[in-house]
Amino acid sequence: MLFIKSKFRGGVHPKDFKDISRDEKLLSIDPGDEVIIPLVQHIGAPAAPNVKKGDKIVRGDIIGTPSGFISSLIHSSVAGTVKDIDLRPHPLGKNMMSVIVSPDTQAEERSSYKPKPQQQVDALSSKDIVSLVQKAGIAGMGGASFPTHVKLSPPKGKIIETLIINSAECEPYLTADETLVRNHAGEIIKGAKAIQKAIGAKRLIIAIEDNKPEAISVLRKALFEEGAIELIVLPTRYPQGGEKQLIQAVLYKEVPSGGLPMDVQALVQNTATAFAVYEAVYYDKPLIERVVTVTGHNLKQPGNYRIKIGTKLRDVLSQAGYEENPSSLAVMGGPMMGLPVIDMDTPVIKSTSGILIIDKVRLKKEFPCIRCGRCIEHCPMGLSPTEIASSFNRKDMDGLNDLHVTDCIECGCCSYVCPAGIPLVQYLKLSKWELRKNAQKKS
Ligand code: SF4
Ligand code: SF4
Repeated sequence: MLFIKSKFRGGVHPKDFKDISRDEKLLSIDPGDEVIIPLVQHIGAPAAPNVKKGDKIVRGDIIGTPSGFISSLIHSSVAGTVKDIDLRPHPLGKNMMSVIVSPDTQAEERSSYKPKPQQQVDALSSKDIVSLVQKAGIAGMGGASFPTHVKLSPPKGKIIETLIINSAECEPYLTADETLVRNHAGEIIKGAKAIQKAIGAKRLIIAIEDNKPEAISVLRKALFEEGAIELIVLPTRYPQGGEKQLIQAVLYKEVPSGGLPMDVQALVQNTATAFAVYEAVYYDKPLIERVVTVTGHNLKQPGNYRIKIGTKLRDVLSQAGYEENPSSLAVMGGPMMGLPVIDMDTPVIKSTSGILIIDKVRLKKEFPCIRCGRCIEHCPMGLSPTEIASSFNRKDMDGLNDLHVTDCIECGCCSYVCPAGIPLVQYLKLSKWELRKNAQKKS
């Protein structure tokens, strides 16, 4: 185990509030009387439904097929009957095409996943592993949602030397990855080794922040026999879990502007993704459930729950002891990067790492910029958020391009530190959106 003092550029150190949900116990949530499974749960082309209203399905059945190279399979998280295929609320804040299933709890018993012997797993080639990951419909579970089988298939000529398993979980309040490590370190290591084999990486590192002592100790024990895997403990700092920041912190390498981790011969995979790969490789189990932190204030039972994909927010929150309260707001994700959710029918999807209840605060009054430079100093991507906000207000598209807006990882550090209360991250999101719209018009 190695403690390193490394520091990526910028970042902030907000109070983490992790003690609210931090517990070794993994609880379960009942999916309720219907699940809503969106056909968009990954970056890329939406999946196309391959079932129809009235169809009987079992847990793990494919209900959506990929409609492009960058796309993903969608499976049913429950056995039951397809109730409808229609637009339904989505964590991204708009309605999206979804398959709605009425669960049949008795049928649920009929489908279970059996483990493969280690010998059979050892005989898998790298292609076999990528194919199992693709069949399981895995997409990055740390929030990026990039189809994992595509990430594990770098273009010809690109060599990946180092695989980093990202256990940093730097967002305040969230403890889902930490709980997964405390309960399933051995399985995460097996999943990581399968990924390492798939991409042919020589070096395998598990990176974690120093505010998770129990998880570090569990990993140390699990890695005792695994001399070839490095455990790196980093000082806690947000947004160290961003893949470019983690590479900078661990490998001292900077991913070039507009580039990808593979440009510096690295690949980063989230802890929950490594666990999902383990289940795909050892059990042929698709990604149909995940661990989610349910936390915040006004909850009787905050903690970490194993939740079936498609379970509605209202079902999750009522089982976690939340009583709807007009002064509270639900956020999917953490406080820095999460999105507020108004419709309680919004479902948990593959990238939902947390559900947070916060007190509604009056929007901070916004004042003119005082040119203090704090947003620039704290931006982990070396951007100038204040100049980007003024270029956006002037509708200066060339200026936005010159300021490398597309490099923004939407971490929210600039808004967090701005003494003038300027919602800079919103300007960044809108600027990226305007640039995309502009590029589409030109093509
Ligand atoms: S949201 Fe974007 S601009 Fe603001 S600090 Fe993060 S990376 Fe920099
Ligand atoms: S932090 Fe706020 S006030 Fe300071 S330069 Fe940036 S935008 Fe202006």
